[in-house]
Amino acid sequence: MAKYQNPRIDLKDQRGDPITGTVHADPIKILWVGAMLIFGTVGSLIYVSLGAVIVFITFTLVNICLGHSLGMHRLLIHRSFKCPKWLEYVFVHLGTIAGIAGPLTMMRTHDIRDWAQRQTNCHNFFTQVAPWYIDLYRQLFCKIELNQPPDFVAEAEVVDDCVYQWMERTWMWQQVPWAILLYLLGGVGWVLWGICSRVCAIVLGHWLIGYLAHNRGQQDWEVEHAAVQGHNVAWSSIVTMGECWHNNHHAFPGSAKMGLYAGQWDLGWSTLRLLERVGLVSELKTPDCLAHRSDLVRLA
Ligand SMILES: [Zn+2]
Ligand SMILES: [Zn+2]
Repeated sequence: MAKYQNPRIDLKDQRGDPITGTVHADPIKILWVGAMLIFGTVGSLIYVSLGAVIVFITFTLVNICLGHSLGMHRLLIHRSFKCPKWLEYVFVHLGTIAGIAGPLTMMRTHDIRDWAQRQTNCHNFFTQVAPWYIDLYRQLFCKIELNQPPDFVAEAEVVDDCVYQWMERTWMWQQVPWAILLYLLGGVGWVLWGICSRVCAIVLGHWLIGYLAHNRGQQDWEVEHAAVQGHNVAWSSIVTMGECWHNNHHAFPGSAKMGLYAGQWDLGWSTLRLLERVGLVSELKTPDCLAHRSDLVRLA
């Protein structure tokens, strides 16, 4: 029986140090998130209309479901289901326009965080135990530089893929075609609500759920000797499309199904089942498809 292994980072003789490092303000993040915050709040309130708010709500929910949750997280990062390449690109593009980072950065950031959290101790950038306003500032506007970061070897299928390389280089610019479309359909207000407010909501929501999911909330599983445990953030199940069942995710990272127990709504999973029925996705992984973990304890 083995511990959970992520093939990109749990490498033989891995020597990374998850504890020692410094958190720096990141000028790119400050400019990008700052611009989205200003235009997405002040700008949007000047151009408020019912149509623009409907665009914001619809685009945000579709973006979280198909893009961030299914495309970026469950597919690109965890390979928890399969689909045709063209659909994978669509999903990952939608994940990219969630406005957090490009696909290769998302993959690396996710895996390093997850690896650090599974060690016996890690930097408090990863534990997220700092007061919420400090953690908010750090996660939104800073990046961590570990003195000895772990080796990270992503699969050639992704790093050598010219579409993914292009998405990584142009991740901010991928909002532009959507902005033009929204402008043609509804003018400046639709652009401010559909692009800036949407990115704001996703970036802030991503931080909030991440902060709560690593600090407090119900748990069914414990990963033995891990510095950070996942918690469930039940109230947010609809808006997070099931990503909030984060205790399950720490226990079964490779599962495409995140809401595992009665009452754990997982709209991302429901969408995958629907797409499976029409033949667009296949090989959906659930916990019983995954290798048994010796470091997993069921809580009473
Ligand atoms: Zn986590
Ligand atoms: Zn994950």
